[in-house]
Amino acid sequence: MVFEGLVIHRVPYKERDLIVKLLLRNGMVGSFYIYGGQGGGKSHKPSIFELGSMMRIMIKDQKTKIDSSDLMISAEHSRIWEPQSVRHDIRAFYLVCLYFELISKFSITFQPGTSDYQNLDHEGVFSVVSNALFYIEDALVKKQFEAGQHLTLFMVKLLFHLGIMPDTDNCSYCQEELLEMPGVVFMPANGQFACQNCAQGENERGFLLRIKKGYQTRYQEYAGFLGTNFSECDKLIQYFCHQYHLRPVELRSYSLLFK
Ligand SMILES: [Zn+2]
Repeated sequence: MVFEGLVIHRVPYKERDLIVKLLLRNGMVGSFYIYGGQGGGKSHKPSIFELGSMMRIMIKDQKTKIDSSDLMISAEHSRIWEPQSVRHDIRAFYLVCLYFELISKFSITFQPGTSDYQNLDHEGVFSVVSNALFYIEDALVKKQFEAGQHLTLFMVKLLFHLGIMPDTDNCSYCQEELLEMPGVVFMPANGQFACQNCAQGENERGFLLRIKKGYQTRYQEYAGFLGTNFSECDKLIQYFCHQYHLRPVELRSYSLLFK
């Protein structure tokens, strides 16, 4: 059986082996044991399992499960694509780490023998993450990488694919059209927008417009997605965390990203 996916986690094991987690094309996360995956050896081969690399892995037929885990043993593997510039830019690297941390909070584990690789219910998540990586790399090559722009776009697309996008059309209390109102307020705890007649707070009309724009912006047009800022990224992260009962401080790469 052959799997394709992005390396979202890697742990060296024993002297030369690796245990890696891949975000598979179907949106699930599979764990693989890679003999000699750390590279090295006589010929000093580098590891091809860098974070963010797109891999193809053929697994061995396993008669028995390893220690009742979901680990699959690679028989053969190759790299399909790798983000070459990300590891040379510290903010881009932390951003990619943050994406993988977020994914790990909700992803479904692929269980060999039980899960169906052809089940594509969650493939939207793979498409969001793979596009995000590809266009971070693109921005770095063009020397126009801006972390807030990428993070905002990513969060809007992720929330949409997870089906937890806040309603951006109507006030959650009086149902008036938000864009008709002079002021709107965002309430991350409820995941709702409200008009300023119904709720008190800072006017977040710019944020509302940015979410709508992010939703309409295709990834290849990311360069035209402008006006993002840290406080808006933070609201989206807070909202995500609220949905998954997390605290933003639990996201290690997030605090490193905006230091
Ligand atoms: Zn209202």
